[in-house]
Amino acid sequence: MVYSIAVDGPAGAGKSTVSKIVAKRLGIEYIDTGAMYRAFTLKLINENIGANDLESLKNILKKTEIDFINGHIYLDGKSVDKEIRENNVTERVSDISTIEIVREKLVDLQRNIAKNKSVIMDGRDIGTNVLKDSKYKFYLNASLDIRAKRRYEEIKDKGLSFEEIKKDINLRDEKDKNRLVSPLKKAKDAHEIDSSYMSTEEVVDYIIKYIEKEGN
Ligand code: C5P
Repeated sequence: MVYSIAVDGPAGAGKSTVSKIVAKRLGIEYIDTGAMYRAFTLKLINENIGANDLESLKNILKKTEIDFINGHIYLDGKSVDKEIRENNVTERVSDISTIEIVREKLVDLQRNIAKNKSVIMDGRDIGTNVLKDSKYKFYLNASLDIRAKRRYEEIKDKGLSFEEIKKDINLRDEKDKNRLVSPLKKAKDAHEIDSSYMSTEEVVDYIIKYIEKEGN
């Protein structure tokens, strides 16, 4: 039977790390929707198109292909796993994600992926919008300081200080929570997990036990 797991939460809460492991353990596919917004942001940077240029945005959306193949993200046929994590993309992605036509296209894609196979999908609006009917919804949270510290450990080599990372995460959260279209918020029926003092393994075990208890 096809089922889906929705994982939402603020930046740096550990959604992707946890979701990847859960996917492997359950033998289902992991879909990183943040990577899709990042890929489209990268395309706009490459094409030098601004967020306010709606006409060009519409055109470019029609000509953009974003795919997930074996856990890798492809933009117009090219793997862009690395490029989408660069600072220039991170800085702009939350502004691009507020644009309604961008969300429409990416949400369509996300729903199509989940139509015929079981997935664990993480993002900001999965439980509230993209996969509203998911049987399993989790809202993964952690304090700002802890999220910034984890992100700092992850991307130390990119030259950003802890304070810069904390500021970026906070700014993105504010934008994601306060936008008009599909803002970040916990779905009413989502199960909140505060991972501030939990290890990755503990969060993974918690999610898997919860799913096993509920059954498919
Ligand atoms: O998950 P990640 O931090 O890579 O997401 C990057 C950005 O993409 C988020 O800060 C948010 O602005 C946007 N996003 C979104 N909706 C999603 C997933 C990500 O708006 N479902």
